[in-house]
Amino acid sequence: MRIFISGPSGVGKSTIIREILSLNQDLVLSISYTTRTPRPQEKHGREYFFIGRDEFESMIDRGDFLEWACVHDRFYGTSLKWIESQESLGKDILFDIDVQGVRQAQEKGSPGTYILIIPPTMEDLRARLSGRGTEDRDTIDLRLKNAREELKNWGLYEYLVINDKLEDAVQKVQGIISSARCSRSEIIGRIPWLQKIE
Ligand code: ADP
Ligand code: 5GP
Repeated sequence: MRIFISGPSGVGKSTIIREILSLNQDLVLSISYTTRTPRPQEKHGREYFFIGRDEFESMIDRGDFLEWACVHDRFYGTSLKWIESQESLGKDILFDIDVQGVRQAQEKGSPGTYILIIPPTMEDLRARLSGRGTEDRDTIDLRLKNAREELKNWGLYEYLVINDKLEDAVQKVQGIISSARCSRSEIIGRIPWLQKIE
């Protein structure tokens, strides 16, 4: 099962995802490839595979990505091989990807549940970005400009979750995941005998 989560930078995706992963031991977070530099505490192969621009372009040429995008002037991509390796182990995967990536995944017919996380207001978003303290002022301005573009595309998503009170947002995302687990396609994939009943 694939769960795609998007939302503007600073809206609280990583915070919500951390909670969701602790509630769902069988869910793994997709590890993307990126050309951005690691933040303090980030480790190669844990948050991202940090690679150079040349290597990223070779991966695009080889068709290694389900989707890739340039976000805030850096490249990010989801490796098909990585997805296949996890799915062959029977894992459900959570993807934290931007709207351009979601559009590509949908165009390629990727099955999945698509969730957009929304801030209560744009002022809240600015406050969260500043409060996180990981970006300078120019970067925050660029991310806020990009946030408007991202939010304009709400129509691509099946579910919109407002991250006002964190616990409520986590509970809503958890509810969506629980429903997705009961969807017809999920259940039929897991218990093929049901289709054979005459
Ligand atoms: P993203 O992964 O979407 O860029 P983060 O998870 O890093 O966002 O969150 C950005 C900042 O906002 C962090 O400092 C986080 O603690 C804070 N935050 C997340 N959710 C909430 C919330 N519901 N209310 C207030 N602050 C929040
Ligand atoms: P950050 O640099 O803060 O980790 O991530 C910035 C943005 O890139 C986030 O909005 C995140 O959703 C997006 N992102 C991370 N990995 C991928 C990916 O593999 N593909 C796409 N399209 N976006 C990604």
